[in-house]
Amino acid sequence: MDDQNLYEILEIDSSATSIEIKKAYRKLALKYHPDKVAEEDREESEIQFKKISFAYEILIDETKRSNYDTYGNTDSPFEQFYGGTTNEFGSNDFYDFFRGETQPRNKTEDAHIKIEITLEELYLGKVIRTTSTRNKICLTCKGSGLKSLSVESKKCGICNGEGFTRKIRRVAPGLVAQDYVDCTTCNGTGKIYRTKDRCKICKGLRVVEETKILEFEIPKGSASEGVIRKKGESDEYPGKITGDIILEYKCKPHKTFLRRGDDLIVDFKIFLVDALTGFENTIEHLDGRGIKIHSKKVIRPGDYIKISGEGMPKLNKSWFKEKTGDLYLKVDIEFPKDNWYIEKGDLEKLRNLIPATRTEEKIHEANVELYTDFSIVKEVPELEEPQQPRQEQPQCSQQ
Ligand SMILES: [Zn+2]
Ligand SMILES: [Zn+2]
Repeated sequence: MDDQNLYEILEIDSSATSIEIKKAYRKLALKYHPDKVAEEDREESEIQFKKISFAYEILIDETKRSNYDTYGNTDSPFEQFYGGTTNEFGSNDFYDFFRGETQPRNKTEDAHIKIEITLEELYLGKVIRTTSTRNKICLTCKGSGLKSLSVESKKCGICNGEGFTRKIRRVAPGLVAQDYVDCTTCNGTGKIYRTKDRCKICKGLRVVEETKILEFEIPKGSASEGVIRKKGESDEYPGKITGDIILEYKCKPHKTFLRRGDDLIVDFKIFLVDALTGFENTIEHLDGRGIKIHSKKVIRPGDYIKISGEGMPKLNKSWFKEKTGDLYLKVDIEFPKDNWYIEKGDLEKLRNLIPATRTEEKIHEANVELYTDFSIVKEVPELEEPQQPRQEQPQCSQQ
């Protein structure tokens, strides 16, 4: 036994993350897998393959790895591993490992539904109904696909009786993985039957189609996007766990309301005179209710009117007082147009009504310049950095 440590075997740093460990193992396992090398290199690569598999097994397990890091040894010695009686990492495990993030072979594929919903629907709660057509195990033949269980068969020549075929899949340049695909010739049974021996209902397919209505409930106050999983509602297949139907929803932007957590913000236009004298105004909430605001206060530009408890409903009701979000009306004060007054005297009257005290600053009379020709703009132009003056570089001269 050479004294290469486990990190060196996997060609990684001792600070490698579990993802890096997995990647390193995948790379090396592909390089050394006995099925992947020439006959004459098989023995050597088998040893290498067992080494990297052993290193991977220890380092991917947090407890084993920390033991190894601390004490420099492992629970299961190399010898035991090489003996092949324990921890044998067979070729099936190899293929299973390389299936990686894809679905396990013993489960049917998950089905995905993506929908958009409105903020109103999130406010009130929504039940999404969808028609689902899926395969269900044929009840007549209990999934065998046969008229009776005693009929004769012969081995399927396409999959060699295994019921599945292997398919090479490129996962990255120079990196391939192998997938198991159900054999379509024998419908995964590995056997071929005569047409007259097949189940009359499913025609030997082992499954029949079923259409039903599925309901996904999005409770009021739910997050703006989310996932609802209906377990076991995807296609059924004999001998397999049924996959799930997964609904992904996302809320569309609303034309007036903006959601921020459980709070809602909505634009609210009032006239200048309302801002000064008070007002009564009604807005429509997301559920169609009218919310009447009676103000006796002075409202200033940039103000929000906060209405407590009128935001989004809380999703999780608890035994203590249910707190909901708040509603914020973002005030936009509409000023009158130029020359709004009827008589010039009106300006004077208004001046006397609204208090305006200005602290006089002392400015030297002789320096005052008069400006009447100005324009009113809504924005200041984007910042443009003024050009830097050219730096005079002192000439380096060596004397
Ligand atoms: Zn077959
Ligand atoms: Zn059938």
